[in-house]
Amino acid sequence: MSQNTEPEDDPLVCCICYDEAGEQGFMEPNPCKCTGTIKIHLACYEQVRDEFGQCGICKTLFPKEITIVYEDGYIIEKFWAITNQGYTYKHGEYKLFKNGVLRTHKNYSMNRIHGQSIIYNDSGYIHSITQYVNDSKHGLEQEFYPNGNIKQEIEYLNNIQHGRCTKYFANKVVNLITHYVHGIRHGPFISHYPNGHVDILSTYNHGKLHGEFIKHYSYGAIQKKIIYNNGHTVSTVHNNPR
Ligand SMILES: [Zn+2]
Ligand SMILES: [Zn+2]
Repeated sequence: MSQNTEPEDDPLVCCICYDEAGEQGFMEPNPCKCTGTIKIHLACYEQVRDEFGQCGICKTLFPKEITIVYEDGYIIEKFWAITNQGYTYKHGEYKLFKNGVLRTHKNYSMNRIHGQSIIYNDSGYIHSITQYVNDSKHGLEQEFYPNGNIKQEIEYLNNIQHGRCTKYFANKVVNLITHYVHGIRHGPFISHYPNGHVDILSTYNHGKLHGEFIKHYSYGAIQKKIIYNNGHTVSTVHNNPR
């Protein structure tokens, strides 16, 4: 503490050593939740962080980077963690390397996957990109073929399919588009042949076929038309154009 007793504006002080800025200055922005005149020196922060410590005032836990090298040396994990009451939690960026190649890149919040998670394949291409909230898939998940082409796009809400689902053939042609509401097919459904021609056009109502269902030949002509009423066949018309 400064010995200066002259009245003045409250000085900025470090929440670890309680000294003023000094020559090294304070971190910007503050790594903890303290505001106002409470700041922190980089050196103080690094020392506390490396001991898995916390801010003495607001009790924010400071994450530290941990590296785990497995016995065979093939797998290496690098992640940020915080320790609280004897438990260590993954918290922040997480990376897993196999044979020196990045294979998983995700983010944790107190041991739960949170934010974007990317999985890479053997060749280093992205296999999938998934959005997480508190360990649950939440938002868009994209999966790719080994050559990098898009394979499927699925929307999730709390780990359950909700929204549009699009699947692709390896040649980038759309295989099918369907829609989900809380895990149940609901809404228009369309599928294609690999040549791009429409295969099936239909509609789902709470998981059951409803309305027109039109099946096509791969060369484009209609093969049959079925009318559904909540999963039950109302009528069928076959078409034999050849
Ligand atoms: Zn300090
Ligand atoms: Zn603080």
